[in-house]
Amino acid sequence: MQIGAMNHPERKVLDEIAWMAELGMDFMDLTLEPPGAASWDVDTSAIRRALERHKMGVVGHTAWYLPMANAIPEIREAAVMELCRCLDRFSEVGARWMNLHPDRHTPWHPRQFYIERNLDTIRELLDHANERGVGLMIENLPGDYNSAAQLGELLGPVPELGLHLDIGHANLQVPQNTVEEILEAHGRRLRHVHLHDNKGGHADLHLPLGTGTVDLRRSVEALQKCAYDGTITLEVFTPDPHYLTYSRDLLRRTWNEVKQQTPAFAQVGG
Ligand SMILES: [Zn+2]
Repeated sequence: MQIGAMNHPERKVLDEIAWMAELGMDFMDLTLEPPGAASWDVDTSAIRRALERHKMGVVGHTAWYLPMANAIPEIREAAVMELCRCLDRFSEVGARWMNLHPDRHTPWHPRQFYIERNLDTIRELLDHANERGVGLMIENLPGDYNSAAQLGELLGPVPELGLHLDIGHANLQVPQNTVEEILEAHGRRLRHVHLHDNKGGHADLHLPLGTGTVDLRRSVEALQKCAYDGTITLEVFTPDPHYLTYSRDLLRRTWNEVKQQTPAFAQVGG
């Protein structure tokens, strides 16, 4: 399992890599968003060199506000163009996966309309993604894309599409955390994880681990149950790096404890 952090899109990417390397992060979750990390502006060869120098991996993240299901066709096509450009940039820095945030901002339309438009966008991206060697994955979002059934509406029709599970989001606007039901249904499609804490309800607080109501141990158990051993981004948004190092250490410790317990459980069960 590898632990990473996300660059702040207001700041220069190379400066962000420097502090992540200092904290011993295994990879960077590179979000391509203006003003500091615009897809049309980043120096991908310098980023690649810096990542190689620090022996860090990279996962691709795109702007959460792209209108990929917009009711106005030309606006949706503009989102496709931006996402194609992001695929180019991610292949240049060596990323193998790029995330997408399914859209829902289509007032006066039924759910089926924006599901279909999201699928149009994903299908239009697939060839370009294949050519660049970068896979596509969707992130669960509070509200419309936060249960196994809701995510199945996108994952079902596109077998190539991966799942990007955001464990903090799975705790929001739901009667109970949906991590387990999502992983039971779609765990074999899991490609990347975001982890942060909050207090349930509507506020996406991106708190340090252990400071809200997300059950870290249970989440780690669910990840290990589906044999996940990949990238986990600590999406803890704080100006004080101590919270990030605390979260990193807590995750590593919990991960190792759960791992050690699992064979014992299996023996009892079997
Ligand atoms: Zn996230």
